[in-house]
Amino acid sequence: MRYVSTRGKAPVLGFDEVVLAGLANDGGLYVPEEWPSLDEDEWRSLRGLSYAELAVRVMLPYVGAALTEEDLADLVETATARFDHPAVAPLRQVGPHDWLMELFHGPTLAFKDHALQILGPLFDMLLTRAGRRVAIVAATSGDTGSAAIEACRDRAAVDVFVLYPKGRVSDVQRRQMTTVKAANVHTLAVDGTFDDCQALVKSLFGDTAFRNEVGLSAVNSINWARIMAQVVYYAWAGVALGAPDRALGFSVPTGNFGNIFAGYVARQMGLPIDRLVVGSNRNDILTRFLETGTMAQERVVPTLSPSMDIQVSSNVERLLFEMHGHDAAEVRAAMERFRQSGRYDVPSDLHQELLGLFRGHRLDDDETAEAMRMILETTGTMVDPHSAIGLVAGAVAGRRDEGGVTVSLATAHPAKFPDAVERATGIRPALPERLADLMTRPEWSQDVPNDTRALQAVIRAGLRR
Ligand SMILES: *Cc1c(COP(=O)(O)O)cnc(C)c1O
Repeated sequence: MRYVSTRGKAPVLGFDEVVLAGLANDGGLYVPEEWPSLDEDEWRSLRGLSYAELAVRVMLPYVGAALTEEDLADLVETATARFDHPAVAPLRQVGPHDWLMELFHGPTLAFKDHALQILGPLFDMLLTRAGRRVAIVAATSGDTGSAAIEACRDRAAVDVFVLYPKGRVSDVQRRQMTTVKAANVHTLAVDGTFDDCQALVKSLFGDTAFRNEVGLSAVNSINWARIMAQVVYYAWAGVALGAPDRALGFSVPTGNFGNIFAGYVARQMGLPIDRLVVGSNRNDILTRFLETGTMAQERVVPTLSPSMDIQVSSNVERLLFEMHGHDAAEVRAAMERFRQSGRYDVPSDLHQELLGLFRGHRLDDDETAEAMRMILETTGTMVDPHSAIGLVAGAVAGRRDEGGVTVSLATAHPAKFPDAVERATGIRPALPERLADLMTRPEWSQDVPNDTRALQAVIRAGLRR
């Protein structure tokens, strides 16, 4: 399997190089040159497999010669063992044709564990074999940071630097990062928003000398391996609910467009997905994009669903590359327009094509709180603010025809956002036993200015070599 950059100016690489590189060196994102696909009988043959067995079957075509099937099975085994539900991604029925897929049973209580629990050991395996080290720098809107730290802590070949927007993540989210004490973990509080953090990471990657000096790599959803690992649970839900003999819609609370893009990939692989719903909070750049065909950046406002407080959705670039038939020049032009003016338009035929598959729906904070209350009342299920947005978006904009199902992705455990859940429902969700003392553990965190040079100095000082 070979990977190309969405901007067409970076070298074509194999899986191992793509994983270790993160971002392509032309500023683009790596995608497979061609999509592997399964025919209907191959999809049917996945029925009855365990989550881990199915994961190996779905991911194997992407790893090429970089890993053997046994390597991959070992990684998946290590990863799934850290989830505390036997199904890994259990499905809960919430309506006649409506399901909630719980993706929050991993170590840090958000769906990001699904990909990062694979990516951590994968990095270690590839680096050890190559005799290399990396410095991972991750921008987080709350959940990537702790998932990255949990996946990479104490790994010999990896130093981790996590940038989070100071004061803009929940106390639980912050503590899940700052209470980890490991020699290779650095939690950095940036004076700015998540988009500022993401821009800092991009500027580090844009500085080739620095990038090579420290062996920079990324575990944000710009890293292809994350998307790949997330395709697994779309396949899992699809097969469990009757695919390929039944059509499916998914509703996904979306920020950086990584999770929902994995759904698009599952569709490229032949899963009969006929609707993908983007759930937005007031930072609704994606929903507006789907409504108008114009991507127009606005100021980020803090909401009850902070992991979606984003106005630059990096992974849309991968979708554009597909929609433009792998025309990297078109993608480069659109990204350049966006960088200069904060907006770009897609041609109207392409906009119509997008609407053939995608829909968007936004909820403000009042609607999100009302949704949490109503979902608890009608289904007996307590959901976090992000998952509530997904559920309502799926109900409003999900598939309508007979016979299919809509699966909403529950992306975080309610106890990750206890204040918002308690205010909406009157009930304070409890953390799982293993995290019960989180709020009293000591914290370690370093303040950094929103400045590339200053950040580079902090990273140099933190490296273990
Ligand atoms: C990261 C995150 C999202 C957004 O996921 P994207 O892949 O960035 O679209 C939604 N909900 C929760 C709880 C998250 O942690």
